[in-house]
Amino acid sequence: MMTSVRKQKTLKQINRKVILHILRDSGEISVADLSREVNLSKPTLMTIINYYLKNGLVINTRKGDSTEEGGKKPNIYKFNEDGGYAVGMIISANKLTAVITNLKSKILYKTSVPLKTNEGFDGVLKKIIDSYNNLVNNTNIDRKRLVGLAIGAYGITNFTKGEVIFSPHFPSWGKDLNLKEKILEQIPDEIPVIVDNHSRFQVFAEKILGLAQEKNNIVAIQAGKGLVAGVIIENEIKRGNHYLIGEIGHMIVDPEAREICACGGKGCFEAMVSTNRILRMAREKHKEYPDSIIFNGNNPDTIDISDVFTASNKGDELALDLMNDAIKWFGIGISNIILMYDPQIVIIQGIFTKAGEYFIENLRKIINKISLFSIKRETEIKYSELGDKAGVLGAASYVLSKYFE
Ligand SMILES: [Zn+2]
Repeated sequence: MMTSVRKQKTLKQINRKVILHILRDSGEISVADLSREVNLSKPTLMTIINYYLKNGLVINTRKGDSTEEGGKKPNIYKFNEDGGYAVGMIISANKLTAVITNLKSKILYKTSVPLKTNEGFDGVLKKIIDSYNNLVNNTNIDRKRLVGLAIGAYGITNFTKGEVIFSPHFPSWGKDLNLKEKILEQIPDEIPVIVDNHSRFQVFAEKILGLAQEKNNIVAIQAGKGLVAGVIIENEIKRGNHYLIGEIGHMIVDPEAREICACGGKGCFEAMVSTNRILRMAREKHKEYPDSIIFNGNNPDTIDISDVFTASNKGDELALDLMNDAIKWFGIGISNIILMYDPQIVIIQGIFTKAGEYFIENLRKIINKISLFSIKRETEIKYSELGDKAGVLGAASYVLSKYFE
């Protein structure tokens, strides 16, 4: 099931793909139904169906009611969603998450293993291979039915070569690490391996399974300790010449800021809205606001960002100050992104999806206020509903989209 170099498709291949797409999108279908949808003869359709019956992508589910002369009952066919499997993985700062899905992106098994701070590459590679084998073994699937593996990494990635150019969480990996080759050397299966920045799989998940299924121009922003976006324009994932599209965390939103970013720059978007900064400012204000419900009588060192989110939704004065500051920088950053990419929807992913009503309502307000145009723009701003599965699901779905391309 290895994909070959993209060649000109023959008419036969094109016809097969058309039929497979119809089968995927419809529930059950007979050859007579198919012949009403496409301009192909019944014998040709039967040849195609037989091809897919043989390779397991289509199954003969039952006999239909007889409608034809002579009362012969037609065979009813359907797409076999268990005719193949995809693996999706995400390497984040502190864990490796992996899923195996069927051909309809349904998760069959999920694993998560912790990663050490700046864990060496050999250790992480072993965890990748072990997770992969765990997924395959725990689902008891036929390995020949694996259609591919996609793995998303934080940092700059070279999608074409399958390299992690630089990972901020794993500097010990060095530059231009060919993750794709290393994985292919160690897995027993000959399958396509795809490497990309995690945000590209996350935005893809929104397109395939999330809030953006009806949209062609989408930006998904994950904010937390860092900040990165996945960008889809005209239904295509955008990467750019140096694979930097989406590295919006390092757009400068406040050149006067004292806040130094992980990249060394001053006033980067990421640094201004990072949860670490919000928590640091909260602790600095503890003496001034000892009764703030952020602290709830606890040691200020033990608070986490959810305490600030919760307090802001209850109208706590300090929490509102902190959130208003974050909202201001988010407003500037996202307004710039809207002007750059003109998306139909901006989807917030990551920890800020838990910020609640106060954050998103005021974010929408400030973005409308900053808007330069008198024309009415209708960019939706919403919280993702995919949770922390967005990355792994998007990666597996990306494998499937390539397989069915
Ligand atoms: Zn920066």
